Order: sequence, then C-alpha cells, then structure tokens
Amino acid sequence: MPNDTFQVGGEADKWNHHPGEVRLNPLFQWPPRPLAIVKWYSAYWLAITTTTLTVVFAVFIFFAFLPPLEAMQSWHWSWVLRVYLANLIPHCLCAGLLHMWLYKWRAQEKRFKFDPRDQATDNGTFTFRNRIHDNMFLTIASGITLWTAFQAPVYWAMANGYAPAFLFPENPVWFVLMFPFLVIWSSFHFYWVHRLLHVPFFYKRAHALHHRNINVGPWSGISMHPLEHLLFYTNFLIHFVVPSHPIHVLFHGYMQSVHPIFSHSGFDQLVVRDKERAKIGDFFHQLHHRYFECNYGTVEMPWDRWFGSFHDGSEVATKDTRARKTQMYT
Ligand SMILES: [Zn+2]
Ligand SMILES: [Zn+2]
Repeated sequence: MPNDTFQVGGEADKWNHHPGEVRLNPLFQWPPRPLAIVKWYSAYWLAITTTTLTVVFAVFIFFAFLPPLEAMQSWHWSWVLRVYLANLIPHCLCAGLLHMWLYKWRAQEKRFKFDPRDQATDNGTFTFRNRIHDNMFLTIASGITLWTAFQAPVYWAMANGYAPAFLFPENPVWFVLMFPFLVIWSSFHFYWVHRLLHVPFFYKRAHALHHRNINVGPWSGISMHPLEHLLFYTNFLIHFVVPSHPIHVLFHGYMQSVHPIFSHSGFDQLVVRDKERAKIGDFFHQLHHRYFECNYGTVEMPWDRWFGSFHDGSEVATKDTRARKTQMYT
C-alpha cells in the first residue's frame, strides 16, 4: 500500500534522479487490492519493459535458434554450444549496446541517472584494474558458462522425460501463468540466496566481488563470483518439479540474467530522441548497492518488508539501514 507518511527528505539531495517512493508488488498485500494488482502487472507485461523484452527473446530464440528437444536427448557438444550462444549473444548485445548508449556515447547524458557520480574506470579494486573488463570477464567466463551449465541439463531431462515438459497449446492457461510464476519464484529464490551471500563468510569470499560495483552499470548485472553464480542458477531446478515448456526455460534464463543488465544500468528510463521510451532501472536494487544492508530481494515479493530491511527511498529508511548495519557489525 502506498505509504501516506512517505517523505524523501535529505535522500533527494544524494541522487541525481530520485524516482520517489519505491513500491512493492501489491499481490502480497492484505486486504487485497485487485485494481492495484492489475495496474502492477499491466505496467510490466503490457508495455515495453525488460520483462516483455525477455519474453520476446525467449519466443524468438526458441523458434529461430534453439535445437529441438529430440536433438537434445543425448549429450553432444554441438547443441550445448548452441544453448551457450543462445545465452551469450543476446546478453552481450544488450549489455554492450546499453553500455555504449548510456556511458560511452552518453546519449542521454545524466537524464534519469540515479547516481550523480561518474563510474570508476581505472581502479585497483577491479580485476585488470578496469571495471568494465572485470565485469565482462566475470559475466562471460563464469556467469554465462554456469547459466548454460544449469540450463542444458534441464533441456536434456525434458527431452528424456526426466523433467516434466509440455507442448503448447496443451495447457494454454498454465503456459501463460508460468511466466509471472517464474518471476515470483526467482524473487523468492534470489532473496534467500542473497541473504546467505551477505553472511560474512560468503560475503568476503564471494559476494564482495559483485559489490565492488557501488555505482552500477549494465555489465555489473551478473558480474559475480563463480560461487555466487553457482547458487544463483540453482533456481533452474524448479523445472524438474513444475511442468514447463522450453520457452519458459529460455525466459527464465533471460529474466535471471539479461534483466539484471537493465536493473543495474544506473538509469531509471531509457531516453531516445528526447523521449522516454522504456523503464529500465531498478531504484530498489540501486539502494542495495549504495547502502548494502537493505533490499536483499526484489520488488516482486515483500520479504524485505516482512523482515524489516525494506528501503523505500526515504531519508528515514537510510537512517534505519545505517543503524541496522552498526548493530550487525558491532
Ligand atoms: Zn548484495
Ligand atoms: Zn546487484
């Protein structure tokens, strides 16, 4: 529910662009607010958003590029390579183009940019002393490899009847509902994996690598330690339990990996020819990268609100986060 007492306060001065109060999916609020739920889902699913972009990728790649399930019944490097390329090409295209647009060409300058500061470039905290090369290396060498390593066995298991698969239009209602279900499943899974990664033992050894990026950019999306990728992509195991179509498996991968390119872009809106064309950024997660001990989940499930770590973008929430952080580390 929108918070009547919400006040940005001094937090407004810390950002070049502050989008206002951070809202969570109303699906989990009581009493139910059907109109708010319809509005929420229409904004994500009936407009040009990163969500619809990932659906388009999944459908297009399924028909144009992914080998048929029959070809994936027995292991062969050629189809595994195709699965790898089906992940690598869209990912690099999106991250590369968005990086060029926002940071290299500065095509929209600082319009809708959250953080007023420029990004670190030549910095000793990054591998190769270069943030972009560091992020690209972790994304491609570890991220896309482990994404494929978890996805390929799902296709193989579907092809052999070890994982429940169905063919469209066998069950069109479930086929459609599976998309929003996967978003909620990912949000659930991400919250708990992310909480674990903030336990000092895992933070120091793995998650600190992702958090080198305080001022995030498109290549930061899945720039993570291999251990984090390993935990992150276990969410593909859902397909061994819940009946899915290969399009869902593709969508799941893009939503899990291509979506973070945009949510880490550092910009709220994409501006082309002086017009706002699409919502790309995610202030909820941007706050996590600045203040660390808040917003561990996503806006799709209210775990952070339930466990008291929700940062709604206000000055009061920053003070609460800082107090919590002091308590945690003393
Ligand atoms: Zn984190
Ligand atoms: Zn992040």
